Amino acid sequence: MYGDNPIRQPLSGDGLTLNIQSIFATLQGEGPYVGWPAIFIRLGGCNLACSFCDTEFESFQPLKLGDILDTVRRLTTSNQRLIVITGGEPFLQPIEPLCTRLLEAGFKVQIETNGTLYRELPDAVDIVCSPKNTGKGYFPIRPDLLARVNAFKFLISAQNTDYSMIGEVGQGQRVPVYVQPMDEYDAEKNRANLQHATDLAMEHGYRLCLQLHKIAGIE
Ligand code: SF4
Repeated sequence: MYGDNPIRQPLSGDGLTLNIQSIFATLQGEGPYVGWPAIFIRLGGCNLACSFCDTEFESFQPLKLGDILDTVRRLTTSNQRLIVITGGEPFLQPIEPLCTRLLEAGFKVQIETNGTLYRELPDAVDIVCSPKNTGKGYFPIRPDLLARVNAFKFLISAQNTDYSMIGEVGQGQRVPVYVQPMDEYDAEKNRANLQHATDLAMEHGYRLCLQLHKIAGIE
């Protein structure tokens, strides 16, 4: 959305209808499950508007939970047992019923969040937090979310000083930290971002994370 999206507030509700941008089968391109066949459930709306955001999430439609699960089942193959719930910002919406139903159906469930919102979820849900910068430092991660985070993923830019180093947001040494070169849609900048992320990973022991889906040319 490149920062053009409206800032949306968290929605209340029973979670039996959710605003869905898209549901599709792909490979997880980022973070701990990189390379895993996965079904992505992309939810609509975000509470932030990042200038580099490369995702469309504002042409969403309301979809009933049963229809979401039917679509997931239709897309599922025997080796696609990972569901990635992403956005936008998934915690804008009451996603607990969706997570519970997916876990009951035997799926592994991973959430990707910017770390500024949280809702109580079953313990089995994996959470990857990608902190975002306000321009004056990183948004603090909610303490209740921090206790649940399984991995952090920081975007890295060589020139954008907001993203040239990872911030201390409470990650400590407790969970893996991934560094991912920011895609700035400029070959020269992207080369520099990759080099910088590589250097940071080598120096600090972070894990380098490339956007596999872009390399593979898939959604
Ligand atoms: S938090 Fe994520 S989804 Fe939301 S605008 Fe920023 S990059 Fe895009």
